[in-house]
Amino acid sequence: MKKILYSLILISALGLQTKVDARPYDTAKVEQILAQAHALYKDDKNGANADYIPALAEVDSELFAIALVTTDGKIFTQGDIDTRFSIQSISKVFTLALAMEQKGAEAIRDKIGVNATGLPFNSVAAIELNEARSVNPLVNAGAMATVSLINGDTGEQKWQAISAWYAQFATAKLGVLEDIYRSESGSNGHNLAIAELLKSYGRFYGDVDINLDIYTRQCSVGVTTKDLALMASVLANGGTHPISGAHLMSADNVQRVLAVMTTAGLYETSGEWAYTVGLPAKSGVGGGIIAIMPGKFAIAAFSPRLDGAGNSVRAQKAIDYIADKAKANIFAHLD
Ligand code: GLU
Repeated sequence: MKKILYSLILISALGLQTKVDARPYDTAKVEQILAQAHALYKDDKNGANADYIPALAEVDSELFAIALVTTDGKIFTQGDIDTRFSIQSISKVFTLALAMEQKGAEAIRDKIGVNATGLPFNSVAAIELNEARSVNPLVNAGAMATVSLINGDTGEQKWQAISAWYAQFATAKLGVLEDIYRSESGSNGHNLAIAELLKSYGRFYGDVDINLDIYTRQCSVGVTTKDLALMASVLANGGTHPISGAHLMSADNVQRVLAVMTTAGLYETSGEWAYTVGLPAKSGVGGGIIAIMPGKFAIAAFSPRLDGAGNSVRAQKAIDYIADKAKANIFAHLD
């Protein structure tokens, strides 16, 4: 009985009201869970900053922030919430969303692919081994090909469309972190090689240099953890922004984006993440991760030290903790 009561408190704490328990969630309880997650993992020193983009190695490794946005528009934050960091691969989710809205879900499946690679995010081998070549929109190859699909006659038009799109998700204009952009542009040979290889297979849909530059800019967009949670909240809310009310995506497309996040969001450990946490998520080598509980809430967490696959150690642990306390898992049996 005690256990059931405890579960009900936690479920209501994060807005997971069931038919039996329709009370509004307890704001103090949500705040407490976020504070606990922060306190539990703030001293975890495992992992290391990404350093293949030199400017990422310079970011303070101790930074740690968590934000949660509910589908009814409540925002909860904890830690270094005002720090801006580069969105990196998390941008891939939102450019995919734009490409899907513009070109349709079938085009994404046909022109990019939607399978997991099982290989690192910038793997050239994955392109050679898979017939779809670009494999999926959340690894570098597929993400750059997705940028090449975005409408626009010039690079500048495309970039304006992408940055205006991100701004609608974040409910704020987001700038590019110039030091990250310069650093990444100066060490981009591997991505250039991937884009050229795709082009040679007829799986890149525009000029390589222009689209690679847009991809690099989108990865260098600066966000706070709260911005990220706000962006992710649209995916938790079926395509309508819980704060602005803007209708940004069709519910069908949200569903498909969440599916790709589930199979490919955490690089080659996406399977383990689905197995243990069970929430569609996407991480970036800047140290951010977003995770979605459809219909309920979105979480974002940030801390720069990464594990071997490229996922923030503390962010993974914090999200795992919060999801567990909230009993949030898309694979869970609903009773
Ligand atoms: N801009 C990074 C790259 O292209 C993104 C990698 C990531 O966050 O996974 O290598």
